[in-house]
Amino acid sequence: MLSAALLRAGWRVSLCSDREAEDFLADRGRPTACLFGDQVEYEAELGLDFWPEAPRMRRIHLDLATDDGAVAFAVDAPLRKPALAVDQRLKFWRGLRELRGRGARVTVGRVTGADLEELAATHDLVVVTAGHRSLTGLFERDPARCVHTEPQRRLFMVNVHGYDTAARPEHEEGVFSFLPGTVEVFWVPFHDKDVGESRSIVLEAAPGGRADRFCRVTTADEGLAVLKELVDELLPHESAFLGPARATSPVTWIKGEVTPVVRRPVGVLPSGRHVLGLGDAVVLNDPLTGQGANNATRMARFFADELTAFDGPYTPEWLAGRFDEWWERGRYTNEFTNRMLAPLGEAQKELILAASHHPEIAERLWEGFNDPASLAPWFFEPPATREFLARCDVGRWDVLRYKLGVGARVVAHKLFKRPLNGPAAP
Ligand SMILES: Cc1cc2nc3c(=O)[nH]c(=O)nc-3n(C[C@H](O)[C@H](O)[C@H](O)COP(=O)(O)OP(=O)(O)OC[C@H]3O[C@@H](n4cnc5c(N)ncnc54)[C@H](O)[C@@H]3O)c2cc1C
Repeated sequence: MLSAALLRAGWRVSLCSDREAEDFLADRGRPTACLFGDQVEYEAELGLDFWPEAPRMRRIHLDLATDDGAVAFAVDAPLRKPALAVDQRLKFWRGLRELRGRGARVTVGRVTGADLEELAATHDLVVVTAGHRSLTGLFERDPARCVHTEPQRRLFMVNVHGYDTAARPEHEEGVFSFLPGTVEVFWVPFHDKDVGESRSIVLEAAPGGRADRFCRVTTADEGLAVLKELVDELLPHESAFLGPARATSPVTWIKGEVTPVVRRPVGVLPSGRHVLGLGDAVVLNDPLTGQGANNATRMARFFADELTAFDGPYTPEWLAGRFDEWWERGRYTNEFTNRMLAPLGEAQKELILAASHHPEIAERLWEGFNDPASLAPWFFEPPATREFLARCDVGRWDVLRYKLGVGARVVAHKLFKRPLNGPAAP
């Protein structure tokens, strides 16, 4: 996106990719990378929206499950603007061809440190957006902005089709299933390279917990079988939907873990020349809140505007200064993700419970996926949460009433095994 924005502004752009466009099509499955509203719009503004047929996610339905397989309560509300998840194999294939067509000089081959020296000597600015697996050694860890030193979740992703939406119509849209302390599962409408409309399922298991069972999985089918077993046991209300599902291909799955990190954005090469890092190369979060590709897009947009408004030179000080400016809002992505990775505080639990009764609160919460800064301060600071709830006409007694309602439902489920999957009582 940065290349597209700079080309639009009349810059000459050299783009280095470790793969030719067609190689992306033959690649293994890539992350879900669902973009939320503003980022979808920016992509379209740059003329990079090539999949009008792709399913849009217009609502999110969140189920909060209990340890014995019941749904304690649900939150359901529209997103302010649709979200969109298109297979990155398609996006990178089409994007590279498109940028070449718009005049970018594309070089194919894995960029090395020596290549960066040459590029830095011949360009006004070199931007490294190589993700979190390559060239990150260039960018020093920034301890002041890091919270974690080890992975907080074990991840499994598989893209599926053939599921039974009629068995659970909530799956026409996005569904999130949380079993606090054990697992979060995201069922995201997805446009798959081979089958088109599908669902990308991302599972985040607490390490060592009941859902942490994908370590030995070696194929998509094995992983999906483990997922089905897990759903039968922990989220049985999803069994009928998932039962008939098949993987969209043998390669559309991922397992692993992420150690979140924030790095300094300017890397210095042995010659003393410098490069700017953006995206996962600099800010890497756990995908729990689906922010990596959104954040990379926000960075691209911010830096495209800053770079084109300034004649240079793009010194390390200037670049680091712009990054600090970006971080003033960008840090909320990390705060949101880190908050969700930790056990929820009492105020946040009350907020989510209130959202199950007040769709307008839920809508504000969902807007956090699009713009995490919009959650400040009311999602992060308990006194601000209580003020926010009061402004939404939710008082202490209301919260107590909602809690009693959930308690009664859970007890009824335990005593009579009554299904709890219907809407919460008012
Ligand atoms: C299971 C899972 C689900 C996710 N879901 C979401 C989600 O729903 N929403 C969201 O926003 N984020 C999500 N993410 C995170 C998201 O995928 C990443 O944060 C995002 O793709 C990062 O973008 P990037 O451009 O920085 O790097 P990448 O997308 O990794 O792109 C880097 C590119 O650089 C190329 N490259 C690498 N090294 C070199 C080299 N040396 N020379 C030349 N080219 C090179 C690679 O081939 C690649 O094309 C998810 C991640 C995972 C693991």
